[in-house]
Amino acid sequence: KDQVQSDLLALYADSAKMYQHILVNTELGEPALAYLHERGLDDDTIATFGIGYAPKNQLLLDFFKAHQIDYQLLRQSGLFIENQAGELRDRFVDRVLFPIKDASGRVIAFSGRILKKSPDEPKYLNSPETKLFNKRSVLFNFDLARGAIRQKKAVVLFEGFMDVIAAYRAGIQNGVASMGTSLTNEQIYMLERVTDHLSICYDSDTPGQKATDRALKLLGDNSRLNLNVIQMPDGMDPDEYLRSAGSEKFQQVFEDGQQTPTAFEMQYLRHDLNLQNTQDQLTYLEAVLQQLSQLSSNVEQDLYLNQLVQEFGLNKDDLRQQLRSLVGRQT
Ligand code: ATP
Ligand code: MN
Ligand code: MN
Ligand code: MN
Repeated sequence: KDQVQSDLLALYADSAKMYQHILVNTELGEPALAYLHERGLDDDTIATFGIGYAPKNQLLLDFFKAHQIDYQLLRQSGLFIENQAGELRDRFVDRVLFPIKDASGRVIAFSGRILKKSPDEPKYLNSPETKLFNKRSVLFNFDLARGAIRQKKAVVLFEGFMDVIAAYRAGIQNGVASMGTSLTNEQIYMLERVTDHLSICYDSDTPGQKATDRALKLLGDNSRLNLNVIQMPDGMDPDEYLRSAGSEKFQQVFEDGQQTPTAFEMQYLRHDLNLQNTQDQLTYLEAVLQQLSQLSSNVEQDLYLNQLVQEFGLNKDDLRQQLRSLVGRQT
């Protein structure tokens, strides 16, 4: 069984090398290399992350066949798709490949991005789960980021590969991605072992905000990490913002734009409410007070109560009384 694992690791290492070679050194890789350059990735960054390209015509299968790699191993690798007749073909075709590595930096899976949007194909295609790859317990870039996480005593959690890579280029090297939008307890546990401070920097579009809300709840319930939220302006994701605003402004968001979880929630709770409307105002106030009732710091509660007093012209004593009744209800 351990033999299978180490054979799979070797297979993934060889595949990663092969795909990288195609991207960087061959004519087949030119469109993909142009695509990555267009997106602002230079050759150093491409090498740092080991990015590769799976060309249009399948190639990996022939390569491994030529090297007489065991057919059962190829089947188990997730690198191929098997038809009903038991024949294999390359899973990744005409995609830029991001190697996904374990905590020690060994390639255990790939995620492939199509070069051009297509209605009938997913933007990203991941390796299936294998003996090596358990999606729930992997964070993209954890291996490279670990040193910087320890040094800065903080980790930044992004949504996507390109966001981690963008941040890395801008000097924020303690970033990892949950690859998609739902964080797991396994990932939280990995992070807790190296730091006690986590910033969520998901996309600031609606799905990203929804995912931030969910992640905050999960983290609040299952970890002792100190949390905050960083949101890029105008619904952008970090990669988009870096490209449109440049690295100085990008870094500025990380310095000045940190929101407390409560400040984020207060903003998020309004997203589908119309606060000109009295009914919505009440809904909002009750939801916010509910949120505030969970804070352990009176000072922090006070800060937000003052904001409500200001914004809605309310009486602070009334708010405080209602807040107390909520706290009472919880015990
Ligand atoms: P890009 O900048 O390349 O367009 P993105 O990271 O901004 O990609 P999002 O749509 O914001 O893409 O998705 C965030 C992350 O979710 C991706 O980086 C990827 O890890 C994951 N993801 C997105 N679409 C899919 C998909 N169809 N299948 C699997 N994972 C996906
Ligand atoms: Mn997104
Ligand atoms: Mn995005
Ligand atoms: Mn993006």
